[in-house]
Amino acid sequence: MTNQHQNSNYKILKLFSKFISFQSVSTDHKRFDEILKTVEFIKKELIDIGFQVKILKKASVPPLIIASYNFCTDRGKNCKTIGIYAHYDVQPEDPLDQWNTPPFELTIKDNKFYGRGVADDKGHIIQILTSIKRLIEVNKLKNNIILIFEGEEETGSTHFEELISKVKRELGKIDVFYLLDFGVKDKNCGKILFGLRGLIGFELTVQTAKTDLHSGIFGNMVNNPVQIIAELLTKIKNNQTGKILIPSFYKKIKKPTKNELFYLEKAKKNNRDLLTKIFPSFDVNGIISGYTKEGIKTIIPASATVKFSFRLIEEQNPNEIEKIVLTFVKKNLSTGIKYSLRTLAKLMPFHTDIDDSYIKKSADIFKQVFDDVVFTRTGGSVGAASTLRKLFKKPVVMTGFVLEDANIHSPNENYDEEMFFKGIIALEKIFAQ
Ligand SMILES: [Zn+2]
Repeated sequence: MTNQHQNSNYKILKLFSKFISFQSVSTDHKRFDEILKTVEFIKKELIDIGFQVKILKKASVPPLIIASYNFCTDRGKNCKTIGIYAHYDVQPEDPLDQWNTPPFELTIKDNKFYGRGVADDKGHIIQILTSIKRLIEVNKLKNNIILIFEGEEETGSTHFEELISKVKRELGKIDVFYLLDFGVKDKNCGKILFGLRGLIGFELTVQTAKTDLHSGIFGNMVNNPVQIIAELLTKIKNNQTGKILIPSFYKKIKKPTKNELFYLEKAKKNNRDLLTKIFPSFDVNGIISGYTKEGIKTIIPASATVKFSFRLIEEQNPNEIEKIVLTFVKKNLSTGIKYSLRTLAKLMPFHTDIDDSYIKKSADIFKQVFDDVVFTRTGGSVGAASTLRKLFKKPVVMTGFVLEDANIHSPNENYDEEMFFKGIIALEKIFAQ
């Protein structure tokens, strides 16, 4: 390793270490100060690199950082505007006693970085900043860059759409979005995600009496709300086959294209349950009712509440699914039963065409840095991805370099050192072309 390299690695680690020391836990309002400190820290770093920085604020909401670096003005073939998304907030560190190193101290051990947020998603932010800084230094940055760093990803991106809409015009120039918040299966293979599932969640309350009733007196005479909910749930999904039984639920779904199937089969080799993760699904998330403490209490509960949700795929618009579910519940609860059904969350599913030129080009670059690349879809939902797609209708390339054993959201979160530095190289190549 040359001196120059050692020096630049030292600087990266210093920056990384400071970044990890901020406890930017977005779900904990008591640490909102830490969020603000984190924003100041990133802002300063961005200004040092040469970015123009905007901090979009709303009272008690983690600010959204928008930073642009204009390299060229002749927007066209040789000059693209690349939007890069990542998030600076982290999950809480508990349970603290399960950490082998202090969560808010960057620790290097066995060729891995340890600390809360190293993998999700602060490490990616450091990689982004480092790659751009290096390119600017050697005069090889070939595109305009707009960075979008969110601070409430871990709490569901509640204000992301509202904040981003304030800079809709500026962001409208973006030709392609890179979302760096993902990982790979193994070290020698890069990964690009081209689809994410959407989500819709509900809360249903069935009320059958004003108060809990004595089961010895009222049993057989009144409806039991838990029983009503249980029967409804069995009508929503066949547990043996996994099939969702609500009419029209699957109506709009198209089969994957030949090309998609080819890559999905390839990705399936090292991820056997992949196919189950990319179809719609239904799950009960919780039931609240009756007596659940120690011993017996012979009552008929007055009410029961169930939370349930569906993961959706690209042709399933959550607004349409919402209507279908409302109609289904209404039809299947017998008349006279008092209930309320409300929607808790809606996220659009989406997918980018894998024949898109940005996806192809990124894949070529990954093949140079890693041995191979896989394309796949994933079962989760990322609020920012759906919002960016909905507002700007540009290709979205979702990628990242974190390994599967990174323990994101768990104690001992880590980022493999080799992947961290290889990732920087991959990003440099992408931003330089
Ligand atoms: Zn993340």
